Amino acid sequence: MNDSFKAIVADKVDGGSSASLRELCLSDLPDDEVLVEVKYSTLNYKDGLALTGKGPICRFFPMVCGIDLAGTVLESKSDRFSAGEEVLVNGFGLSETHWGGYSQRQRVRPDWLINKSDALSLEQTMAIGTAGYTAMLSVLGLLDHGLTPGSGPVVVTGASGGVGSMAVMLLARLGFDVVAATGRAAENEAFLKTLGARALIERGELSRGSKPLESEKWAGAVDCVGGEMLATVLAQTKYAGVVTACGLAGGAQLATTMMPFILRGITLCGIDSVMAPLALRQRAWSKLAELVDVDLLVTIYVVEPMSGVIELGEAILAGKVRGRVVIDVNA
Ligand code: NDP
Repeated sequence: MNDSFKAIVADKVDGGSSASLRELCLSDLPDDEVLVEVKYSTLNYKDGLALTGKGPICRFFPMVCGIDLAGTVLESKSDRFSAGEEVLVNGFGLSETHWGGYSQRQRVRPDWLINKSDALSLEQTMAIGTAGYTAMLSVLGLLDHGLTPGSGPVVVTGASGGVGSMAVMLLARLGFDVVAATGRAAENEAFLKTLGARALIERGELSRGSKPLESEKWAGAVDCVGGEMLATVLAQTKYAGVVTACGLAGGAQLATTMMPFILRGITLCGIDSVMAPLALRQRAWSKLAELVDVDLLVTIYVVEPMSGVIELGEAILAGKVRGRVVIDVNA
């Protein structure tokens, strides 16, 4: 086995951190039980923060970036996995407290790994990636709180992004009436309608100061944006509706009131993909394998080389990335 390989490593510099493409060797890797030959990782908003040093993602340095990975087990000291198995990891602190997926080799703990579904290739698995898995957790949050396609329209905020576009696709596959809220309606209307959105609304209709209660529009919502958008969505959610909150692309503050909760009985359901328990992950991934239409999935993603991922980190923070970006760590 070739001992040296490439990885994107963030180092501490004055006033923050800086990432670069580096050569590492196996002895540099953490001492965890399963050695994976990584094939693909992905680009997520959190990766943008880590790659550019614009957010405090990496808890120590040097840190290999990349919050997810998919590849083949090369060596395993765990009896739960054997060489040759195709596996994936989402979150669990990759790129934060543990070296991550922008690396041709990585060692991880067996209890973080999930076996890849036979229904999906490694590339398709990462096309779904952390964003699709988070979208699935959000949709499960709606379903588990009793929402059905007959309940009424569901709005998805940040709909052109990774989590948002996957949520549009999954909700439409389940038969929901999906409305996509986006700041890029002109350029992404055809894209979002192909994924199953019935209608689009402009970001500005939600991204504004809101009244405590506004006219009831949504049976449910998958919010990827937070801030004013989430506050307005809460004010517009119908009696007994359900809103999931996973993201903060529009801000970490939430200025709302008690009124939607105590006068309309709505539920705000927080979504965390990073430390979600294994049983929930397995449920989400098996539902993804069942629901994702691979012919439609190809319209959502592009594959980019790991050598260009640092520039892509800037682009995703600037809201310029549409859908999903799979990172080929061997290119
Ligand atoms: P993307 O950057 O792909 O998507 C975010 C989308 O939000 C953009 O495409 C854009 O959509 C919209 N947006 C961006 N900036 C603003 C703004 N200032 N105001 C309003 N809308 C904005 O990111 P991801 O899909 O990867 O992640 C979405 C969010 O979810 C991020 O905050 C991320 O950190 C979070 N996340 C959380 C997870 C969890 O476990 N809780 C897991 C994964 C992601 P459009 O152009 O359509 O308006």
